[in-house]
Amino acid sequence: MRTSTTFKKGHIGYKPWLGKERDLETKKKISEKLKGNKVAFKNGQFIRAVGNRNNKWLGEKVGYYGIHNWLSKYFGQPKLCEQCGENDINKRYEWALRKNAKYERKRKNFIRLCKKCHNYLDGVSIELQNRRNMYA
Ligand SMILES: [Zn+2]
Repeated sequence: MRTSTTFKKGHIGYKPWLGKERDLETKKKISEKLKGNKVAFKNGQFIRAVGNRNNKWLGEKVGYYGIHNWLSKYFGQPKLCEQCGENDINKRYEWALRKNAKYERKRKNFIRLCKKCHNYLDGVSIELQNRRNMYA
């Protein structure tokens, strides 16, 4: 009896350690889906030409890249960090979404950060980081 239980367990049980691999699977599926969709780049934004069933993530993706393009276009690439005051031109700066702000085309929702502060912000906002990983 005991052996049969063990056997069953080994074949059915949920494997939390496989979580990462499952994410990879999802990514793969998403990129495969993307290939099938007509996505055009127009006026600094990705535009989805064909509707699809499960498109929530795609909608967010369009927003993410569209807004970042908009930010760089109208406000330029950041050259300093508003968080720590770093302004060494050899360092890399990025637009970051402020905590609790929405991805909207509002300059005040975004902050210019150096890589270090940006990573720190991401560490604080796990949810945002997860979203970003999904689109990487
Ligand atoms: Zn900084």
